[in-house]
Amino acid sequence: VQGYQGQRVAVLGLGRSGLATAASLRAGGAEPLCWDDSPEARARAEAAGFVCHDLTRATAWGEVAALIVSPGIPHLYPAPNKLIARAMAEGVPVDNDIGLFFRSFATDDWDGFDQTPKVVAVTGSNGKSTTTALIHHILKSAGRPTQMAGNIGRGVLDLDPPAEGEVVVLELSSYQTDLARALTPDVAVFTNLSPDHLDRHGGIGGYFAAKRRLFAEGGPDRAVIGVDEPEGVYLANQIATAREDDRVIRVSSARKLGDFGWSVFARKGFLSEWRRGRQVASVDLRDMAGLPGAHNHQNACAAWAATRSLGLAPREIEAGLRSFAGLPHRSQTVAEAGGVRFVNDSKATNVDSAAKALQAFPRIRWIAGGLGKEGGISGLKPYLGAVVKAYLIGHSARDFALELGDVPQEICETMDRAVARAAAEAEPGDTVLLAPAAASFDQYPNFEKRGEHFTALVVAQLGSAV
Ligand code: ADP
Repeated sequence: VQGYQGQRVAVLGLGRSGLATAASLRAGGAEPLCWDDSPEARARAEAAGFVCHDLTRATAWGEVAALIVSPGIPHLYPAPNKLIARAMAEGVPVDNDIGLFFRSFATDDWDGFDQTPKVVAVTGSNGKSTTTALIHHILKSAGRPTQMAGNIGRGVLDLDPPAEGEVVVLELSSYQTDLARALTPDVAVFTNLSPDHLDRHGGIGGYFAAKRRLFAEGGPDRAVIGVDEPEGVYLANQIATAREDDRVIRVSSARKLGDFGWSVFARKGFLSEWRRGRQVASVDLRDMAGLPGAHNHQNACAAWAATRSLGLAPREIEAGLRSFAGLPHRSQTVAEAGGVRFVNDSKATNVDSAAKALQAFPRIRWIAGGLGKEGGISGLKPYLGAVVKAYLIGHSARDFALELGDVPQEICETMDRAVARAAAEAEPGDTVLLAPAAASFDQYPNFEKRGEHFTALVVAQLGSAV
């Protein structure tokens, strides 16, 4: 990290990104002052040779050039973090690793897509990881040097310094965009917006505002925007100066958008790219194994638009879409036996992502529940048509049961029981789908562990059935 040579910089939060921040500050000649409330995290930092300083006590903030905060630390809502509030009140610039990354490595002015390194940044409520991984995969399979980081894979300050000719693809959550003091990707992607993480952002307005920062004046040179929600329409409208303005590529998985300067949309399983009223490319997405369902067609459109912006040819992108294997825990088929498909969508932690999964398969035995989110699952009512039966687990099982009303259901409490019951009752043509519409933290450390448990149970179940 450049710009802080010989200065003290406070680093709050010593997880992976905090340690990478401290290391790269030190490499740039700064003196990091590290702090984390957890003694274990401090011990790890000290073992790595960093100096810990209790920032919650008397701190000479006047001598601190900046405070770098880890994305996991809520700073304003649901209650202001005292330490961060104090630093701000003293006039210390507060930033995060993403801001440091953009200021240090990605300050090049717009000079056409043939000048590099380039940064593509992806945000939105759902589909960020899939779209980020897809863009990265398409670039790699087209032989372009690329690295992926952010909310997926490595921390941004763990990246090798981006080289000439390279494209860095970043997934950025609202937790990361809200404090970053510099956000200057060459291409920014907004997938969609639905309510999530509302506590942290003081409501949907704050949540949208955090994501919108990626598209602020002076931000991206090209904006790829999903316009299937009013917020996306609003954002595209704010950026584009005219209908033909091709700095904005509008993306939809529902509507034909040919009238705009540049658009990519999917309808009935076909992706089309249009420029200035003419179709310039079309691809059949229906047999692409890693991209099932309309929600993945939206991701494919966004990735298409981003990689077209980087100068890739339609056939290169099509080849990348075709060879994309999908990500674990996102609409991932983990087994097929006796005409029954088993799908791990453990990452469906909110209502919108679960709704998408429930629309992607025909006859569903649905495993749901966990740590429920604000608003419950009443928003899923319109999407329950394919559910043959619900198998409810976790803390929210009884609440979900009430909300599901007369949908056939069984309270299973545990994943073990849910998988056993669903597998025993499934008939050929059914899909046993884990799409919890809830967080995992009541029964698991994270959604990955939940998905792995589901997968292991399915494999054991099928093994014993053979
Ligand atoms: P994020 O990184 O934004 O959480 P993921 O790609 O990890 O997104 O997907 C999160 C969940 O949302 C998964 O359950 C996935 O199946 C579902 N999903 C993926 N893409 C979309 C989309 N475009 N719209 C809605 N849901 C999606």
